[in-house]
Amino acid sequence: MSLALARKYRPRRFADVAVQSHVATTLRNAISSDRVAHAYLFCGPRGTGKTTLARVLAMALNCENRSADCEPCGACEACTRIWGGHTSIDVVEIDAASNRGVDDARDLRSRAAYAPSGDKNYKVYIIDEAHMLTREAWNALLKVLEEPPPRVVFVFATTEPQKIAQAAAPVLSRVQRFDLKRIGPADVRERLSVVLKAEGITADADALGMLARAADGSMRDALSLTDQVLSLGGTVTTQGVRDALGLVHEDEYLALLDLVTEHRAGDVFGAVARLSDFGADFGLLLAGFADLLRAQLAVVLGGTVPELSEYLTGELATRKSRYQASDLLRMLSILIELEPHFRRSGQQQLLFETLLVRFALLDRTLSIEDVLKGVQGAPSTGGGGTRREAPEIAPSRGSSAGAMRREPTMLADAAPAPTRVQAPVQAPVHAPAPVHAPIADRGPATVAAIPLDINRLSEHWDDVVEAVRRAGRAVVASALAEAAPMAVTASGVVTVEVTGEALVQALENGAESILTALRSRFSGVSKVMVRGVGGDAPSKRLTADAVIANRVAMLRKRDPMLDAAVDALDLRLLD
Ligand SMILES: [Zn+2]
Repeated sequence: MSLALARKYRPRRFADVAVQSHVATTLRNAISSDRVAHAYLFCGPRGTGKTTLARVLAMALNCENRSADCEPCGACEACTRIWGGHTSIDVVEIDAASNRGVDDARDLRSRAAYAPSGDKNYKVYIIDEAHMLTREAWNALLKVLEEPPPRVVFVFATTEPQKIAQAAAPVLSRVQRFDLKRIGPADVRERLSVVLKAEGITADADALGMLARAADGSMRDALSLTDQVLSLGGTVTTQGVRDALGLVHEDEYLALLDLVTEHRAGDVFGAVARLSDFGADFGLLLAGFADLLRAQLAVVLGGTVPELSEYLTGELATRKSRYQASDLLRMLSILIELEPHFRRSGQQQLLFETLLVRFALLDRTLSIEDVLKGVQGAPSTGGGGTRREAPEIAPSRGSSAGAMRREPTMLADAAPAPTRVQAPVQAPVHAPAPVHAPIADRGPATVAAIPLDINRLSEHWDDVVEAVRRAGRAVVASALAEAAPMAVTASGVVTVEVTGEALVQALENGAESILTALRSRFSGVSKVMVRGVGGDAPSKRLTADAVIANRVAMLRKRDPMLDAAVDALDLRLLD
C-alpha cells in the first residue's frame, strides 16, 4: 500500500462526507438552487473534515463535469488539483496559523485578486485556522464581505469560533456558520471497517474499537493510526494495535482498578514502575484509566458501553458489586480536575502514581472524615459562636472531590487518629476518647490557629484552594490550584506565584476570597500578593516540583503503611 489511507480515502464528493451529512446536504442544495453564500464558517474539532468539506465545495463549484445532483466528478483537472490541495487559479488555500497566511489575508483586498478565471468558475478562498487572523486582516476581509464580488466564496475553518467572535464579531453576521459534529468512536469504527474491507484487509472488531478510541474524534488520525498498525504487519489485531500505538493491555488497567479497590496503596509504586519500564505513555494511561472508571460506573448503574471490548465488558460485570457509583464518581471528578494540570506537567508518572494512591486511600479517608464529623457534631454546635467555619469542619458526606481535599488539614490537626477506623464510625458521638478531646476543645478556632509560615502554607495549599472553591469562586480556585505560595513575610504578606497572564488576572480578581480562605486557616495573614512568571520559566518548574513533593508528604502523613512503602522509594520520589 503506497498511498496513505488518510489521503486515499479523503472524500471527493458530498455523499462521502458521511458524518457531516447535515452540512454536506445543505451545501449541495445551495449549489443546485444557485444560492451559494459569499462566506461560510466551518467550526469543529480537528479531524472532523472542515478542510475536506471546503475543498469538496470548491470542487463542486469548479468541476468541469459536475453531476446533475451537484456532486463534483473528482477526476477532472480542477477537481484533482483542488482535492490535492495544490495551487489553482481559482482556489486559494491560506493557512492563517502561519505569518504568511496573515499577510495573504491582509493583501486579499489590495491584490484585487477576486475575479474568477472564467464566467462559469468560482473563486474560492479557503482560510484555515481562521481564528489566528489578526484584527487588521479581519477588517480587510470585512470590507470585502460588505460588498462581495460576484462568484467569490470565502470559507473560514476554525477549531475555536469563540476567538473569532471576540476578535471579529461583525464578520460572524456576514458568514453562514456550520458546526461540524465531533466524530464518535462508533462512526470512526464503521468508517475504518469500510476502508479496510475495500483494501481487502482483515481486522478484528476490538482492534477497530481501540483505534477509534485512540483517534479521539479525528477521522484523519484514525486512518493514520491504522496505517501505522499496518506498517507492522498486514492485519489489524488487538496486539498489533497495542504494539504500534504503545497501548497498555486491558489487564493492566484492570489490575490498577483492583489495586485501588482493595486499598493496596503500597502496591501502586511497583505497578506504576512496571508500566514505566514498559514505556507506557502516562497521558494515554490516564485517559485509559478514566475510560475504565467511566465504563465501570456505567456497568454499576446498569448501563452499557458500546465501544467496550467484549472481554472488558465481561470483566467489569464481574466487578460490579465491588463498587458504589458514588465512589466511582468521586474518582472520576478528581481525575477530571487533575487532567489539565497533568497534560502540561513534566512529572506525569509521579502525578499518576499519586492519583492512584489517593484513590486507594479513598474509602478509608471518608471513614476518618465520618469519625471526625461525629466527634465534632455535639460539642462544636453546642459551644455557640461557631460562625461560618462550622460547616467547613463538618462537611457533608456528599461533597465528592471536596471531601478528599479537606482531609489533610483535619489529619494534620488530629494526627493520632487511628488508621483502621471502621469501628469508631459506629459510636463516635458518645466516645470521650482522648484522641477526640483536643479537636473538640479547640472547636472552630483550630481552623484558624495554624501559625503562618511558608512550609505550613505549602503543606495546606490544597485546603486553601478548596476553601476558595467552597466559597463559590470556582475560577479563582482553579487558578489557585495552578499557583504556589512562594514567600511569607514577617508581617504576614503571602506571595503567590503563577504562570501566565490569565491566571495572574484570575488571582488578582479573587484576592479578597483568597485572603478570606487564608485567614480561615492561618493566623496573622495580612495581605496577598500575586506574582506572574512567564512561559516555562525554571522557577515554575521548581514550584511544580515543590507542590508535588508536598502532596507526597501529605499522603505519607495520612497513612503509616504508605509511609513505610514510600520510604524505599523516597529518593526517587523526592529527590
Ligand atoms: Zn471534476
